[in-house]
Amino acid sequence: MKLLLLGKGGQVGWELQRSLAPLGELVALDFDSAELHADFSRPELLADTVRKVRPDVIVNASAHTAVDKAESEPEFARTLNATSPGVVAQAAHEVGALMVHYSTDYVFDGSGSAPRTEDDPTGPLSVYGRTKLEGEQLVAQACPRHLIFRTSWVYAARGGNFAKTMLRLAKERERLTVIDDQFGAPTGAELLADVTAHAIRATLTDPGKAGLYHLVAGGETTWHGYARFVIEHARAAGVDIKVAADAIAPVPTTDFPTPAQRPLNSRLNTTKLQSAFGLVLPAWQTGVARMLQETLG
Ligand code: NDP
Repeated sequence: MKLLLLGKGGQVGWELQRSLAPLGELVALDFDSAELHADFSRPELLADTVRKVRPDVIVNASAHTAVDKAESEPEFARTLNATSPGVVAQAAHEVGALMVHYSTDYVFDGSGSAPRTEDDPTGPLSVYGRTKLEGEQLVAQACPRHLIFRTSWVYAARGGNFAKTMLRLAKERERLTVIDDQFGAPTGAELLADVTAHAIRATLTDPGKAGLYHLVAGGETTWHGYARFVIEHARAAGVDIKVAADAIAPVPTTDFPTPAQRPLNSRLNTTKLQSAFGLVLPAWQTGVARMLQETLG
């Protein structure tokens, strides 16, 4: 079996390089790869890459993920998040490949408190959310044999992330303020990559499993709850933390105005994925604790 991975250097792409490797021959590319074009700002070149590689499976981890920046460059975000994934999906269909793609909780409007299912109405609040929603739709239309995973609050041990920022601030400051009215589940790139590999194998055996799935770690928290977990974990591990436990102040989203509006309710219902693939999604704390252990050394 041959797999084509696009966006190999991102949080999820990096972990996919590991998790997809045992499935077969893996061709992994990034936007500046020399031998084959994988630059999502040049959609016209992408179909040629797919035709040259002729993979059995394409996994697209490329995206415009700078949520605030997208507000000031909507056409560029649309090219990366919608047009190019659509072109790749069309080429996937032509060569008979299974197309795997990622989307986001930001396709929803964040109202209410119920975890959203795959069938719930969408209503993106931002350019990022709108372009990701259009990307889902183009991929699904162009390539019926697809797996699209909507996820949220992705972190990885490699590179910067929210937990590392909170740790740095907690060592420097006596008081922190963190948003406490956005609800979701921090989800590790490792978990996404591992579940992707399982789902690919299952879907190649049973094509009826193709479709749209919500994929996030178990449980829920807020950014404030996430920050407290990280800081207390580090304190228990002997890290010199300056901020006191009761000096991490919960604040509303309105205290941190940003160009892009974020949904308050980012809870995703994962029942469909767990039952279709016979998988269990571990609590978010499990993956975050593991990432912290790797980070703290
Ligand atoms: P990253 O931002 O870490 O990775 C995105 C990848 O896209 C990087 O490899 C990046 O390359 C690449 N890329 C950027 N510009 C181009 C381009 N012009 N052509 C080709 N590739 C390009 O994102 P994640 O790994 O976190 O996200 C993976 C998926 O999950 C995406 O679909 C995202 O929308 C989705 N998602 C992410 C969430 C999050 O919190 N991060 C939340 C919900 C969904 P380089 O690193 O070299 O710039």
